Amino acid sequence: MSAAAITFTDIPHPAPTPADAREAALVDPGFGNVFSDHMVIIDYTEGRGWYDATVGPRQPIPLDPATSVLHYAQEIFEGMKAYRQADGSVALFRPDANAQRFNKSADRMAMPHIPEELFIEAVKRLVAADKDWFPAVEGGSLYLRPFMFASEAFLGVRPAKQYKFMVIASPVGNYFKADSPSVSIWVSRDYTRAAPGGTGAAKAGGNYAASLVPQAEAIAKGHDQVVFLDAVEKKYVEELGGMNLFFSFEDGSVITPPLTGTILPGITRNSLIELAREDGLTIREELYSIDQWRDDATSGKLVECFACGTAAVVTPVGHVEGPEGGFDIGSGGSGQLTAKLRAKLVGIQRGTVTDTHGWVMKLG
Ligand SMILES: *Cc1c(COP(=O)(O)O)cnc(C)c1O
Repeated sequence: MSAAAITFTDIPHPAPTPADAREAALVDPGFGNVFSDHMVIIDYTEGRGWYDATVGPRQPIPLDPATSVLHYAQEIFEGMKAYRQADGSVALFRPDANAQRFNKSADRMAMPHIPEELFIEAVKRLVAADKDWFPAVEGGSLYLRPFMFASEAFLGVRPAKQYKFMVIASPVGNYFKADSPSVSIWVSRDYTRAAPGGTGAAKAGGNYAASLVPQAEAIAKGHDQVVFLDAVEKKYVEELGGMNLFFSFEDGSVITPPLTGTILPGITRNSLIELAREDGLTIREELYSIDQWRDDATSGKLVECFACGTAAVVTPVGHVEGPEGGFDIGSGGSGQLTAKLRAKLVGIQRGTVTDTHGWVMKLG
């Protein structure tokens, strides 16, 4: 079905947040605490396709207790941001990549595709409806959360025949405390995130549910994030619960774990690979073991390590607590390459660095 066949209905908000309350909420929103006034809903029924697209007031959605997603977790999502540009306009960063990944996630979870143009149109309409919800804080943006779930009331185990696609928006500041120069990560020994043949490459809520215990363990041990090793050999470094990893060496080379099917193909990861290659760096998508990581950090061969994703952008990893003890990386803060790649990416997203890749979609 073509997206053009679907028209959006605007449902006026009966009581938008008063300007003073909104402005107060936008001063220091943190991450994922504050929500805008609107949401998008589009329905899907097998045989009929997508219909009833609305942009309306953000409000609870009634669900039958037998709604399939509540029992079998057929749910996928995306995370993307709208950025305020220097000239006051607003832009999205690679929304086509989010739409494509969403449909790949849908394939893995036996869910229907949504036409890419419809996905992007939904996001654009929400940003337009919530244009007053951009935070004033430095580094702030409007985080957008498109998601789809099985909405059929049915307890048999099979792919649902009904789905809802929705988009909500959350004004956000920094993901990690702004005063921390780097994060400390805990290597999970007892838990893995994704096995070969599993759902690790899909952006599905269930992957996050499975990561919460090891993430809580990391916090309890005094670290910020958990890093997962591969499920087969428990040896190769894969990624954090929601961020990909890069390792940079004194000889100028860079390694990031390859997309073997157990790693989420980050759009930030992909963008940074391109930006670094353009700067003449050699990036290898290569398996990297926890033992090698410790040896390289200890010998000084590894000079920088950073995690990346839409929410936290580029975040240096300063300390790793592994099965055989902890080790520091470089100076423990942000290294030169980390800072340079971060500045270039953020500059493109915010329109202060020329976008030579066609990544930025201006919304006016
Ligand atoms: C979303 C996500 C990432 C980062 O992807 P981006 O497209 O860069 O935001 C990395 N790992 C996991 C598990 C994720 O869910």
